[in-house]
Amino acid sequence: MNADLHCHSTVSDGCLEPAAIVRRAYDNGVKLLALTDHDEMDGTAEAAREATALGMRVVPGVEISVTYREVTVHVVGLDVDPENLALRANLERVRSGREERARRMADALARAGLAGTFSGARRFARNPAMIGRAHFARHLVASGVMPDVRTVFDHFLAHGKPGFVPHHWADLEEAVDWIRGAGGIAVMAHPARYCRRLSGAALDRLFDVFTAAGGEGMEVVAGAHSPEEVQRFATLARRRGLLASAGSDFHEEGESPVDIGRCSPLPPDLEPVWSRLT
Ligand code: AMP
Ligand code: MN
Ligand code: MN
Ligand code: MN
Repeated sequence: MNADLHCHSTVSDGCLEPAAIVRRAYDNGVKLLALTDHDEMDGTAEAAREATALGMRVVPGVEISVTYREVTVHVVGLDVDPENLALRANLERVRSGREERARRMADALARAGLAGTFSGARRFARNPAMIGRAHFARHLVASGVMPDVRTVFDHFLAHGKPGFVPHHWADLEEAVDWIRGAGGIAVMAHPARYCRRLSGAALDRLFDVFTAAGGEGMEVVAGAHSPEEVQRFATLARRRGLLASAGSDFHEEGESPVDIGRCSPLPPDLEPVWSRLT
C-alpha cells in the first residue's frame, strides 16, 4: 500500500497548489494521500476534486502547531471533517499570531544583519496568514544570502538561532481534542525531530500526555526519519500500541528530502493507521 499521509501545499508552506500535489502523488503511485497543511484546511476541497477526477483516494488532513513545555511539536489530524466549525475556529486562532510572529522574526534577523526579510518572506507566502519560517528561508536563498533552505535553518531559524522567536501555539491536549471532535485520528508527527529538546523520559512523557488526551497514532516513517529512527519509533509504537503512519512531509522538489509517495514501507508487523481510514 503506497500511502502518504503528510504533505503541504501553497495553502501553508508548500510550493505546489493542492491539485498539483494530488497529481504528483498520483504520478508517483500513491493510493491514499492526506494533504496536511499547517493549521489550515482550505486546500482539502481542491485536493478532493482533483482526486475524484483522477480516481484516487485523498483524506482531509491538517498539521496542528502545538507548544508542549515550550517545545514546538506537530500533531497531524487525519480524516478530519474540514467543515467542523470548532476545528475551523480554533485553527483560525492558532494562525492568527503568525503575522506578528513574522514581524518579530524579521526584527530579530535585522539585528543579526539581515534587513528587509518581512517583505521578502511575504512574497513567498501565497497565503499571507500562513507566513512562516520556510518562507523566510526561501527568501534568503533566493536573495543569495544562503545556499539552501536547510542552511538557513541551521544558521538562523532553528530553535536558539538568531532569527528564532518563541511563540505559543495550541496546547497538546486541545489539539488532540479538536481533531477527535472533528471525527479524525490524531497522529504525532515526525517524533525524531523532538529528540534534541525532549530526550528519554521527557519524550516518554510527551507520549503519555498525547495518548491520555486521545492521540492514537505516530509517524514511524517520516521524511525526516533516518532508517535507525524508523526502527526506534517502530519499537515505541509497538510498545504503546499506537497506530503507525507514514508521510513524506513533502513541501518542494529539491528542498524536501523525500518526494511524495517515496517513503520507505512501514515495518510489516505494525498496525497501519490506514486500517482505520476505510
Ligand atoms: P513554522 O511553522 O513557521 O515554525 O515553520 C515550520 C516549518 O519550517 C516546517 O514545517 C518545515 O516546513 C520548515 N522547517 C523546519 N525545520 C526545518 C529544517 N531544519 N530544514 C528545512 N525546513 C525546516
Ligand atoms: Mn512546513
Ligand atoms: Mn511538521
Ligand atoms: Mn509537515
